Amino acid sequence: MRRARALCAAALLGSLLAGPAPGAAVAPRRPAARPAPRAAARALADSAVLLRTVRDLAAPEMEGRGVGTAGLERAAAYVERRMRALGLRPAGDDGTWSQSFEVTTGAEVSSPTAIALDGRRLDPGPDFQPLGFSTNGTLTAPVVFAGYGITAPGYDYDDYAGLDVRDRIVLVLTNEPGEMDSASRFDGAVNTPHAELRTKAINAREHGAAGLLVVNGPRFHRGEPVRRPRADGQGYMSSGLLAGWLSDSLGEALVARAGTTLLAAQQAIDSLQRPRGFALPDSVTLTVTLTRTRARIRNVVGLLPGRDSTRVLVVGAHYDHLGYGGEHSLRPDERVVHPGADDNASGTAALLGVASLLAERARGVPAEGGCGPPAHDVVFAAFTGEEMGIVGSSHFVDDPPRPIGRVEAMLNMDMVGRLKDDKLMVMGAGTAEEFPALLENANRDAHFELKTSGDGYGPSDHSSFYKRQVPVLMLFTGAHADYHRPTDTWDRIDEPGLWRVTRFAAALVESLDARPRPRFVRAKADSSMGRVAGGGGYGAYLGTIPDFSQTEGGVKFSGVREGSPAEKAGLGEGDVLVKLDDVKIDNLYDYTYALRARKPGQTVRLTILRKGAPVEVTATLGRRP
Ligand SMILES: [Zn+2]
Ligand SMILES: [Zn+2]
Repeated sequence: MRRARALCAAALLGSLLAGPAPGAAVAPRRPAARPAPRAAARALADSAVLLRTVRDLAAPEMEGRGVGTAGLERAAAYVERRMRALGLRPAGDDGTWSQSFEVTTGAEVSSPTAIALDGRRLDPGPDFQPLGFSTNGTLTAPVVFAGYGITAPGYDYDDYAGLDVRDRIVLVLTNEPGEMDSASRFDGAVNTPHAELRTKAINAREHGAAGLLVVNGPRFHRGEPVRRPRADGQGYMSSGLLAGWLSDSLGEALVARAGTTLLAAQQAIDSLQRPRGFALPDSVTLTVTLTRTRARIRNVVGLLPGRDSTRVLVVGAHYDHLGYGGEHSLRPDERVVHPGADDNASGTAALLGVASLLAERARGVPAEGGCGPPAHDVVFAAFTGEEMGIVGSSHFVDDPPRPIGRVEAMLNMDMVGRLKDDKLMVMGAGTAEEFPALLENANRDAHFELKTSGDGYGPSDHSSFYKRQVPVLMLFTGAHADYHRPTDTWDRIDEPGLWRVTRFAAALVESLDARPRPRFVRAKADSSMGRVAGGGGYGAYLGTIPDFSQTEGGVKFSGVREGSPAEKAGLGEGDVLVKLDDVKIDNLYDYTYALRARKPGQTVRLTILRKGAPVEVTATLGRRP
């Protein structure tokens, strides 16, 4: 039996990889009089079908597959239909194709929301909008101009130095000092994370302010529109204070009473590279009412049943994308469909392509060149909510269709449609002892120039499996200028490349299917590829792996990095961080903020909830590996 299986797998590998090159003339394999189911199914998996799948998923009516859009559900229904047509079995909740769950999708502005200053009261409109991460409530307080609202010890810069903002409303400029100035102590051409509005809100809160008002920095951003919070945005975790955005004219009106202009104030800061805040004579009343919008979203999950249901392989790809943009877009001011053809209609097409190749093989009887069912149950998972923090795959591993301990390996595909110079990135190559040899074997016929990285953590869904000790592989054809932009369109997909990656992925799954269970290895962190939010982004490093499904009440850890400061401090899975020194940690943004404000080598106090009880530990922050 074993021998026969091995031969069958080898034959399949050969046939998949030796398949006709896209566009090449294909001689009919059998007389036309006898329709061949194998040939028909193969046609389904050919490169044209893959490209059409990308085109369908990236079509305008899919609305960029954003959480909170109807297009996301349209895409889910499309994937479900395709899985059904391939003869997979439903592997979701209660015999359905879906694993569904609820998420916060954004915020809608409700009543009462207004700002009152200078005897005027303004409703939300072109002059004023609440910020999506504002808390709800009303507040009347004096206003203090606090420059850019930045505290950045790493740059030796603090807008709050010498300013008393306790219980005040702070007025701050967007962006950061010395923008467009390569000699600036900040990065000059590119904004640092200190320029993010949410960072400024948390920083204001940590300095005791009760409210935050933002106005465009007039030197480079005068006239930019005041953005309204979005219902199809990305979660909007609360920042813990009231926050709003003012138009240029409203901001000017506020500082005019202090005898200056925004431009003069900004120029003073930028030219001297020194903070310059001051109290304003007026009080402002800020009232905000936001209703968080929620939606039910779903993973679409199909199964190719194997001979042994105690053995499971998972093949996955996320089908969601950024919808109309939002905070993860690199064009956050444009409310346009982000088609996400490469990210990740390409991976979804490849997922369906692999399912098609394997299903076809499983149907055939050995005498006709088929293999019968695979040894493992092969689960095909199209994940939702990846872009908002791998929430779909987190849900999958929390509530899997088969016990997670039976999953012997997981193969993820995210952005596989832009093959260039034969370079294929493979992450997770160090997560099982057998993987390097397995990859080398599979590549013998595929002829990719493989760029492997050992790390099993990375910015996509395989992380969810790796943190449950499942060996993972993730295929990726590389970053490009259209990443997270409206220009990630289907016509820029490399069709032959996508087809090659799909066949390679199928060969990997076949090869895994023919082997004994791979031996899991905790791989070394890798700085060159696949960083996951370990806090920070630069500078200080603690080495925790956050559980992205928890969005308030602290940051829950689903694990810690081997040899990291967090591990040395005894932190582990299930711990919930609620305080770092004196910074209250409600969500990931607070945590990132707290780490960003600290330096490697610094010792910090962490308050952890462990099984519900508070525990204090100290940790010495390291440098990001
Ligand atoms: Zn992606
Ligand atoms: Zn993405």
